[in-house]
Amino acid sequence: MRYLDEYRDGAAAQKMLRQIERVATRPWTIMEVCGSQTHAILKYGIDELLPPQITLIHGPGCPVCVTPVETVDQALVIASRDDVIFTSYGDMLRVPGSSKDLLSVKAEGGDVRMVYSPMDALKVARDNPGKRVVFFAIGFETTAPANAMAVVAAEREGLANFLMLTSHVLIPPAIQAIASSPENRVQGFLAPGHVCTVTGYAQYEPLAKKYRLPIVVTGFEPLDILHAIHMLVSQLEAGRHEVENQYSRSVTREGNRQAQALIDEVFEVADQRWRGIGVIPCSGLRLKGRYTKYDAARVFALEETASREASVCIAGLVLQGVRKPPECPAFGKECTPEHALGAPMVSSEGACAAYYLYARRAGTAR
Ligand code: SF4
Repeated sequence: MRYLDEYRDGAAAQKMLRQIERVATRPWTIMEVCGSQTHAILKYGIDELLPPQITLIHGPGCPVCVTPVETVDQALVIASRDDVIFTSYGDMLRVPGSSKDLLSVKAEGGDVRMVYSPMDALKVARDNPGKRVVFFAIGFETTAPANAMAVVAAEREGLANFLMLTSHVLIPPAIQAIASSPENRVQGFLAPGHVCTVTGYAQYEPLAKKYRLPIVVTGFEPLDILHAIHMLVSQLEAGRHEVENQYSRSVTREGNRQAQALIDEVFEVADQRWRGIGVIPCSGLRLKGRYTKYDAARVFALEETASREASVCIAGLVLQGVRKPPECPAFGKECTPEHALGAPMVSSEGACAAYYLYARRAGTAR
């Protein structure tokens, strides 16, 4: 297939659904890790079209949602400074910290600006030499190369007023944390295609072997997801636990070596706190070596704050696939995209936003 429409072809989707029905003889629970896949599943009604014995649950693959409240609170402190221009993606401006969000800081007079890439933030730094320009660098392995490139460019240009507040997370340790949890009910994973475009899929192989869980790397179109579910259920029915690549038009086993080298040049692996989940060992990236001078948390010597989540929000359970958004008592009532209590309702990749947007309610969600 060469064109996008072909990956949304209704007749082909029906055919794939019949193949899944034929192969699935028992109940299976599958987690899609990526927020974009969650949105595609709900948008195209894949969760409702699948045979009832297949349950899809949603994982922690929304980078905005998993940025810890402690780091959002640090962002609020930095953004409130008179000598700072704080730059961030649009969704991050609305994510609640302990008491407010970045948009509130902007309303109070802080210079908070929305950007589309770290290179935009770099330009703001070039254009404003009298200010320190901080970029809120969040995301999975997908955004890490561009963030690394911005730091390398700042170093090359001698831009001393460019800084990063980082909250980088890695997918394989998150899968490991879910697979090893006593509450785990996931029997197979759909791995995120865009992350694997950078990293390749070899690093998932030890996980599949250790936890005896099949993992299928997949894309984001309805036929990609249905095809991957068919591959996963076929493995489960056959008692296999391998890593398979449905997204071969973009992903190789080795990944993008140049992007990986760029990440390794600038970042090192570190323990990372995930919002609502807690610290997962070796699940994040932080600036290393001579690049630590670009680390905003270090430069501003920020101390640990006594951060707190909205008490009603069960985002941590939603992000681990233990609960579905409609099971949250605030879903669609106190918590809506316009008045979000938690990040999964704010973010365009968040599971709560997807359920709200595509009108899934308790009782219809499975
Ligand atoms: S519906 Fe709102 S309050 Fe409930 S888990 Fe989702 S983001 Fe949190």
